Amino acid sequence: MKALERIIGVFRKFPGVGPKQAERFALYVVRASDPEIEDLVEALRAVKASVNYCRECYNYAEGDLCPVCADAHRDRSSICVVERPQDLAAIEKAKSFSGVYHVLHGAVSPAAGVAPEHIKLKELLDRVRASDGGVKEVIIATNPDADGEATAMYLIRLLKPYVQKITRIAYGVPLGGDIDYMDEVTLGYALKGRIKI
Ligand SMILES: [Zn+2]
Repeated sequence: MKALERIIGVFRKFPGVGPKQAERFALYVVRASDPEIEDLVEALRAVKASVNYCRECYNYAEGDLCPVCADAHRDRSSICVVERPQDLAAIEKAKSFSGVYHVLHGAVSPAAGVAPEHIKLKELLDRVRASDGGVKEVIIATNPDADGEATAMYLIRLLKPYVQKITRIAYGVPLGGDIDYMDEVTLGYALKGRIKI
């Protein structure tokens, strides 16, 4: 069953897919009709041929610019820095941010051997410098874990000479949540990020 083993091997490479799930995907393919398979192959080819990185922010884009950077109404003086395109999509869904983004495609991680040059940090620095003071605020929205924090610290050092205002998003109490059910790390961040009312 060489062909079956091969497709299971292909699915195993997908992020977060274990052996059982890879096998289920493979069996779906075995049972699928010819048009369904053609659709799958065509969708894979199309995404590979047309989806690239946005030349401004490194979000996914069909063409030169992603939908955010292509929107003339977005405020280019404010850049929100995220680790992954999925983070950008999540913030967009919240509809609370009218600036633009920069996607790092990872976080600096001494433990996993990810150095600053492995992610799109230099590209952010180049972008900020090229704006010649046009970028007034950089909002750091990396994950609240060790790597996200290390990346945030690195960003602050890197950008400080060029940007007036560097902020970090606040992590807080979930709405409708109970304080006594919160873990201490989240609660610690919520306290650190408290604001005057
Ligand atoms: Zn973009």
